[in-house]
Amino acid sequence: MDEVGSHGLRAPAPGMRIHHIESSMMAVNTYIVLEEAARVCAVIDPGFHNPDLFTFLDGCGCAVRYIVATHGHGDHTALIPALKERYGGEVCIHEADAGALRGAKGNRLLGFFGMAAKPMEPDRLLQGGECLPLGDLQLEILHTPGHSPGGICIKLPPYLISGDTLFFNTVGRTDFSGGSAALLRHSISVLLGAIPEDLQVLPGHGVFTTLAHEKANNPWFTRDEN
Ligand SMILES: [Zn+2]
Ligand SMILES: [Zn+2]
Repeated sequence: MDEVGSHGLRAPAPGMRIHHIESSMMAVNTYIVLEEAARVCAVIDPGFHNPDLFTFLDGCGCAVRYIVATHGHGDHTALIPALKERYGGEVCIHEADAGALRGAKGNRLLGFFGMAAKPMEPDRLLQGGECLPLGDLQLEILHTPGHSPGGICIKLPPYLISGDTLFFNTVGRTDFSGGSAALLRHSISVLLGAIPEDLQVLPGHGVFTTLAHEKANNPWFTRDEN
C-alpha cells in the first residue's frame, strides 16, 4: 500500500511492531508501539471511544509501559483514565497540556468538544528533548507547540508520530484555546531542520504521509517565511 495518502504503514524497525486503530468516533488515530523482546508496549493517543483498543491490548501479550498523549485535547485523551485503571502504565503528557488531564479549574482544554474525562494526575511530565525507553526502542519527544501549548511529536524511526501538529498536506488548527499560528510555524520549521526527511508521518487524524512529501507539497512548508 502507498505510504503517502493512505493508511499503509511502512515496515517497522527490527524488533518493533506497530498497530494502528482509527476510532469511529472523531476519527482519531491511535498507535500502539510494541517491543517484541521485552513484551512491552506504548499506547499513543488512546482516543475517546475505542473498544478495538481494549480488544487489541487484551490479546497482544505485551504489558502497557506508557500511555502517551500527543496533546491534551479530549478526543485524544478521554480514555486515558480507563486505560490506566485497566492496564497500568505511565501516563505521559507535556507539562504545558497536563492541566487538561488534571481538570484544573479554568483549563478549557478539558472541555474540548464536551469530552471531559475523569480528572487524573499524569505520571510523567514531558518537556521535549527526552527519550522514553521501550525495551530496545527509544521514543524521542519533540515539543511542537502551536495546535496546543503542550503539543508533541514522537520520533521513532522509521516513523514520526505527529499528533495534531502535522497532517497530510496541512497542519493542525490554531484557533482553539491556547493555539498559536506563530508557534506552530516555528514548530514546523524546527521539524524541518531536526528530522530526517525519509520518516513516515503518522498523524493524529487522517491518512499517513512522509516528511519529504510534506516538504514538497504542504503550504506550511513551502510558503515563503516572509
Ligand atoms: Zn487537537
Ligand atoms: Zn485531534
